[in-house]
Amino acid sequence: MSVLSKPYFHDEEAAFRYLESIVWTDGATCPHCGGVDRITKVKANPEKRIRVGLWRCGDCKKQFTVKVRTVFEHMRLPLHKALQAVYLMTSSKKGVSAHQLHRVLEITYKTAWFLSHRIRESMRSGDLAPMGGDGGIVEIDETFIGHDRTIKPKGDKKGRGFHHKYKVLSLVDRNTGRARSMVVDSLRAADLTPILQANIDYEAFVVTDEAGQYRFLDQHFAQHDFVSHGRGEYGRGQIHTNTIEGYFSIFKRGMKGVYQHCGKKHLHRYVSEFEFRYNNREANGFNDRDRSREALRGIVGKRLTYSSTGLEA
Ligand SMILES: [Zn+2]
Repeated sequence: MSVLSKPYFHDEEAAFRYLESIVWTDGATCPHCGGVDRITKVKANPEKRIRVGLWRCGDCKKQFTVKVRTVFEHMRLPLHKALQAVYLMTSSKKGVSAHQLHRVLEITYKTAWFLSHRIRESMRSGDLAPMGGDGGIVEIDETFIGHDRTIKPKGDKKGRGFHHKYKVLSLVDRNTGRARSMVVDSLRAADLTPILQANIDYEAFVVTDEAGQYRFLDQHFAQHDFVSHGRGEYGRGQIHTNTIEGYFSIFKRGMKGVYQHCGKKHLHRYVSEFEFRYNNREANGFNDRDRSREALRGIVGKRLTYSSTGLEA
């Protein structure tokens, strides 16, 4: 026996039962009218083209499956294969490429690519609560990745430095062990400060490196201190950015090693994926199975259309 021999990875009925147990914690609920009392299961019958996982609501007389109003709606791929993909993507520290899903699941590359974006969408956190509200330390740092071809090199500095790269800003709340990341267009203090104020409580103790854009953060937060990497300093007691640098190192190794090419249009989705795995990591009390269930809980109330992924373009 292995994890991969679980019935819901192979049998469509079992796959639906598994997903239903995660999404409908209080029993089957009609997504059309919210009814819960007169729901009956419709028996699957391939000859009459009655699908697996179908339910009927006695209140509004409509039929539905657990996939309605989730990122899996309109997905023609068998659900048990999608569950395999969720498990692979949530349990691999640096992610799984669409090419690998295409080979392992024996589905087309296009299906694999779109499926991986559905799963990324389910991993996207809606957590907007400010970090550091308990007066704890929030580390702030930025990293550069890829090559933004919309930015022209200045003067003769062709392609050197960070100017032409995508910029990702991340925060780590050291007390909760959770990270939050976003793709930003600029690292100027005037552009970053409002973003930081929206995501960090003013009671927080913020820690950064010596970069100029962070110089005046003490005006916006209870405390600010920084490490001078330029002077060879890596930290003084709790004043360090080692947590966030560790987070970035996994992100960058994954983006380079697994995903390789990523345009700006999709970068925020990959950023969410790494953030999800970090926030639901072993040290925060999640094993691979919990992490996979957490991603499946995240399918609800989200939609992903071909046009929103830009796949048609
Ligand atoms: Zn109904």
